[in-house]
Amino acid sequence: MPDLIAIDEARRRVLALARPLAAEDIALDQALGRVLAEEVTSTVDVPPFPNSAMDGFAVARGAQGELRVVGEARAGSPSPVAVRPGTAVRISTGALVPEGTGTVVPVEQTEPPGRLAPDAGSERADEWVRVLASAPGANIRQPGEDLRAGQTVLGPGAELGPAALGVLASVGRAAVRCARRPRVAILATGDELVPPGEGLRPGAIWSSNPVALAGQAVLAGADAGATETVPDAAPATRDALARALASADVVCVSGGVSVGPHDHVKGALAALGAEQRFWGVALRPGKPTWFGTYASGARRALVFGLPGNPVSAMVTFQLFVRPALRALQGADPAAARSTAVLDAGLARNSSREQAVRCRLRAEADGLHAVPTGPQGSHVLTSMLAADCLALVAAGEGELAAGERVEVELLR
Ligand code: AMP
Ligand code: MG
Repeated sequence: MPDLIAIDEARRRVLALARPLAAEDIALDQALGRVLAEEVTSTVDVPPFPNSAMDGFAVARGAQGELRVVGEARAGSPSPVAVRPGTAVRISTGALVPEGTGTVVPVEQTEPPGRLAPDAGSERADEWVRVLASAPGANIRQPGEDLRAGQTVLGPGAELGPAALGVLASVGRAAVRCARRPRVAILATGDELVPPGEGLRPGAIWSSNPVALAGQAVLAGADAGATETVPDAAPATRDALARALASADVVCVSGGVSVGPHDHVKGALAALGAEQRFWGVALRPGKPTWFGTYASGARRALVFGLPGNPVSAMVTFQLFVRPALRALQGADPAAARSTAVLDAGLARNSSREQAVRCRLRAEADGLHAVPTGPQGSHVLTSMLAADCLALVAAGEGELAAGERVEVELLR
């Protein structure tokens, strides 16, 4: 293996080659989790008209005492009559305030409406209301209090969570331009691999990388198609990679990327014309990680050869593949980082940075990181309770309990 490169350098090389994919129009009800590829401005004030914040009565400024109720303004049905001194219009929350309204008096600040004596010659008795107090301008939501016409609402790179979808709907958008979701092909190499659900023959194990990596890909916003298990043979590896490269934006192949006699991934990728961008990262777990690019005509793909050990595969996905998938969508590629106080001493590795699976706990002095147990790259249960990777720089001796360490949050 050539000289190992640092995690940051590996990530730089990945991001230098991960250009945003083309954008497409997405209906709002399909856009959860997508990344916006346009600037959205509001064409209107939100709210678009002065409306009542309460159920009550619209009255003239300074109105007091007994007022004749001359109409009703409901949400969606404006009052045909204006408010004049001495009169009130019954109003519901969200209703357009009638012309002449100086204030809205909540129903709780009125006395229950009674009946005035019928006007001479009038068939029906009019309602009246007694206003106990009224503050000028109260309980009226003014146009533009949420957003003004012309104001930028969200910009390219924004992730569309529930609140963003709601805001986009509130400015009338039924669809928005979003980056296309990257298509990820996941291949797992290994003669020993058996799909879960099938019986285990001697020497075989159930294959865990496909579902774990596909899960990480989906959480990063990608479309993970069907996964494929590939035997440790050069022709089969080449055929499976060729099929994946024909349609995927990102190909992730786990296992078979080291230097053993039955590791065929690098040779197959070279034979298919993929260009190596790095091989070998000063990282534990995750040293034998390969990254390259594939181009054929208009086809472009990023290719990741991930170590087969399940923890190594997930860690290298988090550190290298996830940033690429984010960048392909035009989103911020960086996972959230913080620092935490280590709750247990960790032996340093003399030449490689370590990604230690930890659980985070909030204490009075800030976040604490607690290693999740044995850290072997085959101990997949160490990922179960992990909500971050503590990044321990290479060096001698140990990083003592109580020291601060940088953590990358998993999600
Ligand atoms: P390799 O990188 O192919 O040398 O594999 C390293 C280790 O990871 C071996 O113990 C493999 O059995 C194991 N491994 C490889 N692929 C998978 C997989 N899909 N699921 C579980 N373990 C795997
Ligand atoms: Mg293998």
